[in-house]
Formats: sequence, C-alpha cells, structure tokens
Amino acid sequence: MDMVAIPCLKYMIFSICPADGARNVAMRLEVDPLQCGCTGYCVKLAPVLFGWLPQGGAARARKAPESDDERRLAREAADLCPTRAIRLRETAGGDGDD
Ligand code: SF4
Repeated sequence: MDMVAIPCLKYMIFSICPADGARNVAMRLEVDPLQCGCTGYCVKLAPVLFGWLPQGGAARARKAPESDDERRLAREAADLCPTRAIRLRETAGGDGDD
C-alpha cells in the first residue's frame, strides 16, 4: 500500500500566519456567561486565563493571553468548551483594540 502524506491544514495555517508567531500579536479572550455550561474545563486547563464569576454560575476570562503558551491554552480551551462560550479574537500587529 502506498502512503500519501497529507499536510495538516491547521498546522500549515498557524505556521505561516504571522498572527501565531511571537511578533506583536494581540488576542482578546471573552466568555459568554449566558452560554457557559459551567463544566469547569477551561478553569482546570488554564486557571491563569479563566476563573469563575464572583456570583458563580459561569466562567469568566481573567486576563488577555500574552505569551505564545497562553494563546495556545486559550485556543485549546475554546476548542474544548462544549457550549462554545469562549470567544477569541486575534489581531496581528495591533494592540487588541478594534
Ligand atoms: S469550558 Fe465552556 S462551558 Fe465549561 S466552564 Fe469554560 S466557558 Fe463554561
């Protein structure tokens, strides 16, 4: 059987996209409290980025991801969130404001 190498499109996009490198990248991180299902996955995965609202009932973003590791964790949390309550917005070369 012949083997055919199929490149991972996600990896290719991130590897060529300047927004994923260490260059002046800003990421905005938000949690929709009305959509959060309180599973705690994001809080367990990245407690530096996610916590609970003081009154409980939903997760919240604690801070904007600043390093490549934090941006990777934020993306992973967004992928894991079963209710799609985590919103990420990345801008290259910006300060995070629109
Ligand atoms: S992973 Fe999603 S549903 Fe679970 S606590 Fe975090 S934001 Fe809420």
